[in-house]
Amino acid sequence: MLPAFSFARPLLPIAGSNDGFPVRRIFCVGRNYAEHAREMGASGREPPFFFCKPADAVVPVPAGTVGQMDYPPRTADLQHEVELVIALGRGGRDIAVAAAASHVFGQAIGFDMTRRDLQKAAKEKGQPWEIGKAFDQSAPVGPIHRIEQIPLLTRGEIGLDVNGEARQRGDVADMIWPVAEIIAELSGLFELAAGDLIFTGTPAGVGPVRRGDHMSGRVAGLGELDVVIV
Ligand code: MN
Repeated sequence: MLPAFSFARPLLPIAGSNDGFPVRRIFCVGRNYAEHAREMGASGREPPFFFCKPADAVVPVPAGTVGQMDYPPRTADLQHEVELVIALGRGGRDIAVAAAASHVFGQAIGFDMTRRDLQKAAKEKGQPWEIGKAFDQSAPVGPIHRIEQIPLLTRGEIGLDVNGEARQRGDVADMIWPVAEIIAELSGLFELAAGDLIFTGTPAGVGPVRRGDHMSGRVAGLGELDVVIV
């Protein structure tokens, strides 16, 4: 007998609405801020690249609430990466940079949580990154702010505190590939679709969190994302 399947997609909150945004896929950009690329041991001049997480790695965090994420197994070095997340409302392939903004449904704050020790071991062996990046609950995301309300961000502070202490600080203007270029690049590799999320990379200052830690991320114009590790 077949197990009972549920085909429901994870739903993200939409700011100012009771509707949910159904998540299709999660694409992530690696090393999109030069200073973070350097702290990861790169020169900061290599082009960024892509990896993926499963859609159900999303942990939706409604406005005004504190999300919870379980400390994942098989790691002693869970790390935070605060990122601007783009939600696509329209897909396509070979999307031009000038047309990219018209494919965006909205923007949110997300955490690309990383089992850094497992990622590092995979890198050293030339193995895939999934166990370091694509684990359960590895993608807490706050409410999506519709593009009609908050235009596509090209600058503004992005940061993260842990237990009230400053950890990550950067500016969206410092992305190596700005959002429109990310969409253009990605759409040459995959046919994009409504429901796809893109994590656009993290600024410098990534570091470890432990059980009980409270992460507070923010992106100018998008409010805050608060998550506790349990
Ligand atoms: Mn990241």
